[in-house]
Amino acid sequence: MSDCIFCRIVAGEIPAQIVWQDDDVFAFRDVAPRAPVHVLVVPRRHVPSVLGLSKRAEDVALGGRLLTAAIDVARQEGLGEPGRGFRLVVNTGPEGGQSVDHVHVHVLGGRALAWPPG
Ligand code: AMP
Repeated sequence: MSDCIFCRIVAGEIPAQIVWQDDDVFAFRDVAPRAPVHVLVVPRRHVPSVLGLSKRAEDVALGGRLLTAAIDVARQEGLGEPGRGFRLVVNTGPEGGQSVDHVHVHVLGGRALAWPPG
């Protein structure tokens, strides 16, 4: 979608600090990090939110790719080491705190994260 900021990042039209990519998934550092490590993992294909993922095989596969890519990013950032850890967050809809309507997984870590979130 031409007016979607994450589609434009994936297309290279808006600069971003890319940390990981493959044919399906793209990951880049959040511009306003909430933790020392804050990476966003997005599908290359425009899907507005997780509510846009159906039970069709291609969507099930994409959901799995988002999750496994987020875990790969966390490992790459050193967060899978013993004694460390991380949080994966998928904000969804206005009450879920979603501000960009292109589904994304936040990978957060690098410090002890409070729970529950505010
Ligand atoms: P959410 O509020 O869950 O929809 O997350 C959207 C995230 O996108 C926020 O954490 C923003 O800081 C981040 N963000 C918005 N624009 C950009 C950008 N151009 N580059 C990187 N991250 C961005």
